[in-house]
Amino acid sequence: MAEDPDYAEIRLAIQKLCSHFPGEYWRRLDCEAAYPEEFVVALTESGYLSSLIPEQYGGAGLPISAAVAILEEIHRSGCNGAACHAQMYIMGTLVRHGSEAQKARYLPDIASGKRRLQAFAITEPASGSDTSSIRTLATRDGNHYIVNGQKLWTSRAEHSDLMLLLARTSPKGSTGKRTGGLSVFILDMCDARSGGLSIRPIRTMMNHFTTEVFFSDVRVPAENLVGEEGSGFRCLLSGINAERILIAAECIGDTKWFLARASNYARDRVVFDRPIGQNQGVQFPIARAFVNMRAAELMVREAARRYEAELDCGTEANMAKLLAADASNEAANVCIQTHGGFGFAAEYDIERKFRETRLYQVAPVSTNLILSYLAEHALGLPRSY
Ligand SMILES: Cc1cc2nc3c(=O)[nH]c(=O)nc-3n(C[C@H](O)[C@H](O)[C@H](O)COP(=O)(O)OP(=O)(O)OC[C@H]3O[C@@H](n4cnc5c(N)ncnc54)[C@H](O)[C@@H]3O)c2cc1C
Repeated sequence: MAEDPDYAEIRLAIQKLCSHFPGEYWRRLDCEAAYPEEFVVALTESGYLSSLIPEQYGGAGLPISAAVAILEEIHRSGCNGAACHAQMYIMGTLVRHGSEAQKARYLPDIASGKRRLQAFAITEPASGSDTSSIRTLATRDGNHYIVNGQKLWTSRAEHSDLMLLLARTSPKGSTGKRTGGLSVFILDMCDARSGGLSIRPIRTMMNHFTTEVFFSDVRVPAENLVGEEGSGFRCLLSGINAERILIAAECIGDTKWFLARASNYARDRVVFDRPIGQNQGVQFPIARAFVNMRAAELMVREAARRYEAELDCGTEANMAKLLAADASNEAANVCIQTHGGFGFAAEYDIERKFRETRLYQVAPVSTNLILSYLAEHALGLPRSY
């Protein structure tokens, strides 16, 4: 299975699994703002959420391109990986930077589904896109760190047993490096919730189970520090690049879903005695959306190839995320337009997918910040942020 670069067997298996979670399922959850528990359990029990965990810790030990195939197919089937995708990309930080003891303690439980690692707490109200300005503080106190502060948009915090937390362990500017003084911790949410951590859900335009998290003297054992103190930003990079690549894969899946829906409808819908898809004004936008999707898909593959080879892939991961998010956003728009009035009817699922894919223009990194990164790192222009 791992030798097939396109993971055809995995793709087929995911399509089969997703067929048990049709549009009605997602529409109901959308109305109730409820978490897709059954879907996440099905993915966990089939082993897909632990595909990136090394075999020695109970996972499938597959490369990131397998996770690309899994998340793309989930989205191509009309489902939504946002309920659990973080487990895949957070893993990069733990697998590459966690101590042997941390990996032995957490990874087998995550692989078996006993515990979920789905919360990734970076963003804060005051710092926004400027991660180097986060203020949540972890102060060393004997064998513990004491955490105080606030995180914003921490998705799935209510549905996760573990959280990967980025906190400041020394004041900004004190290390001489812009991104110095930050550290990553793995938090046991159950312990933390009974010791000063509180969570407040935020209702959003799509069903996303995102929250605000408040830390009031939360004690975290020092052994839960991932990597060295102060090296948090470097540790996060493995996770962040994986996140860009996997979100891009979801956008490719969304785009394929929109393209299939738009093409089918344009072939079938007859107005003025001919299929609407015979009009170039209808077919050209769909064809252009297809071109955009294919270009983005190639960039996702290139970014995944570099990630797997442990080469620097910041530029490619960012380009993949930008191209794929733009492709899905545009395809969503074209799909609605092709359906005319029916594009707005909830029962067609297009408006739901439109809302879901819109997020990726902003999160986990906004388009502007990607362009700023590329201007600086790929083109050598002055840093603008
Ligand atoms: C539904 C949802 C789920 C999320 N889940 C998580 C999560 O699980 N964990 C987590 O840590 N975060 C999460 N986020 C946060 C997300 O990563 C941020 O919203 C995103 O990085 C943008 O930050 P911000 O919202 O603070 O916008 P801001 O940084 O305030 O930016 C606002 C706008 O200004 C633009 N802008 C800002 N600075 C510049 C500049 N220098 N040049 C050009 N343009 C600029 C941005 O592009 C953006 O369009 C989530 C967000 C949402 C909405």
